[in-house]
Amino acid sequence: MSDAASTPTDFIRDIVAADVASGKHPVPKTRFPPEPNGYLHIGHSKSICLNFGIAKEFGGTCNLRMDDTNPAKEDVEYVESIIADVKWLISGWADHCLGFKAPGATPGAQRVEGKPDFFLGSVAPGEEGRPFHASDYFVQIYAYAVELVRRGKAYVDDLTPEETDRYRQEGRPSPYRDRPIAESLDLLERMRGGEFPDGTRTLRAKIDMTSPNMWLRDPVLYRIRHAEHHNTGGQWCIYPMYDFAHVLSDYLEGITHSICTLEFEVHRPLYDWILESLDLPRALPHQYEFARLNLNYTVMSKRKLLQLVNEGKVSGWDDPRMPTISGLRRRGVTPEALRAFAYNVGITKYDGVTDVAVLEHAIRTDLNKRAERRLAVLRPLKVVITNLPAEHREDLEAVNNPEDETAGTRKLAFGRELFIERDDFAEVPPPKFFRLKPGGEVRLKYAYIVKCEEVIKDASGQVVELRCTADLESKTGGANSNRKVKGTIHWVHAGSSVDAEVRLYDRLFTEEDPEAKGDFKACLNPHSLETVQAKLEGSLAGVKEGRWQFERLGYFAVDRESAPDRLVLNRTISLKDTWAKEAKK
Ligand code: ATP
Ligand code: MG
Repeated sequence: MSDAASTPTDFIRDIVAADVASGKHPVPKTRFPPEPNGYLHIGHSKSICLNFGIAKEFGGTCNLRMDDTNPAKEDVEYVESIIADVKWLISGWADHCLGFKAPGATPGAQRVEGKPDFFLGSVAPGEEGRPFHASDYFVQIYAYAVELVRRGKAYVDDLTPEETDRYRQEGRPSPYRDRPIAESLDLLERMRGGEFPDGTRTLRAKIDMTSPNMWLRDPVLYRIRHAEHHNTGGQWCIYPMYDFAHVLSDYLEGITHSICTLEFEVHRPLYDWILESLDLPRALPHQYEFARLNLNYTVMSKRKLLQLVNEGKVSGWDDPRMPTISGLRRRGVTPEALRAFAYNVGITKYDGVTDVAVLEHAIRTDLNKRAERRLAVLRPLKVVITNLPAEHREDLEAVNNPEDETAGTRKLAFGRELFIERDDFAEVPPPKFFRLKPGGEVRLKYAYIVKCEEVIKDASGQVVELRCTADLESKTGGANSNRKVKGTIHWVHAGSSVDAEVRLYDRLFTEEDPEAKGDFKACLNPHSLETVQAKLEGSLAGVKEGRWQFERLGYFAVDRESAPDRLVLNRTISLKDTWAKEAKK
């Protein structure tokens, strides 16, 4: 199950393996091409794990490329976050496969005159540098556009965007379709020169206006957009469309297997048409499609996630309730867990919805192995052990991780004043309540059996303190510890405890398919965040980072807002119903 233990197989890896074996592509090269118009989400992690996984397994590289052809929606903040998220997700696993542009590599520097082909500067995997950008190739992509016009395979069209859409729907050729090549070349040059306002002209591929595949009905290759671009600034006022820029970026980088999600299957004939029409000298990339990841109880499109951020429904892109990679990281999820999840989901050709429980299972399995156990009380209720003197203090022995012997044990302070969980006491207990009740007994984990002798309330009737006696013969691990009671609960020693703000998260949406009813924001879960003031065992004093299992409560991690004088923790995920298990012990 862990990504280190076995190598996945699927139809795409079978294709790559065959291409490696036949010598067609001895060194496969993939790419991960996000558009920097938002933060990466868990769906992207599936694609990252696939593309980097293939590079790793077959000794290749995977380029990180910003698919940044749309100047309006893109932003440097997104570029930075994407780099950080990808590096985090592949850390300790496929770092050496990361294809970055080497410092000083100038795309197009080795242009071969007279050939519509360009070579990239050398790319050293893993070397410091920056990611590739589709916008780095604007010069070459434009040259390819000119080449297509020269070959009679593209033309400048004067139809408006609305007319173009309508004509394409109707399968009707534009009246400009057969304008002379020289005229198109001249107009294209002038489009680039900034002579025409937005929306007045486009460059269109000349393919087949009657094709049943809409993407082949003379798709637009370039549009006029007088806008600043985050990478190229004011250099350009025409921008290539996704399909045109994408395939040529793949080609320029020497990508062998261009892997994308199923909705691009219908674009594949256009992908191939562009490559074939340019008569390119080097090996051509090929596109393969797989089913995207869909998860229930969440939305995944960047546009919708952006709405949640902009409308203050969450605290930001990395709000721990967000399905973003940065949100999951902040919540305490490890890259190993996300990779195991991607592995478990697998790669298929069939769209489906993955139950969020599959993700939660991967997170629990991972944290169960790595997280040391600690005691903490989320909603404290004071307990006084009346048969111990005020100065009583002893160090008990607690196991750090039953799943990992090497994690050892630690000392746990115990004394007269403790905190237990409010929920673990019931004045009027329901049937089968095995925790503490008036006159009842319970075991304090790693410690003694205590009996509730007296319940103290404040003026409003709220229980504020329990006075208990401990059976001092019943110490866990002691000679007389075999006396059994039905319940075991966790606790924290008051005198040495540490205060912390703990943020408890629940699913962000109450509906399995938030988009089904139109307005996805209408089914936001009003209880998705609860903040409590907790008491933690003394060993956690001063922690700056880390992940622990708080026994019976779940897995917790230090939040990035935590400070030395104000510890803040996130609950990464709750445990399964451990109460039922504990009660049987
Ligand atoms: P969104 O619709 O969320 O904006 P997108 O597909 O537009 O996503 P891109 O930045 O274009 O996002 O995606 C980068 C890569 O990640 C693409 O190759 C895309 O196929 C892949 N990808 C995006 N979403 C998913 C998903 N849910 N499952 C698997 N792969 C995905
Ligand atoms: Mg996209």
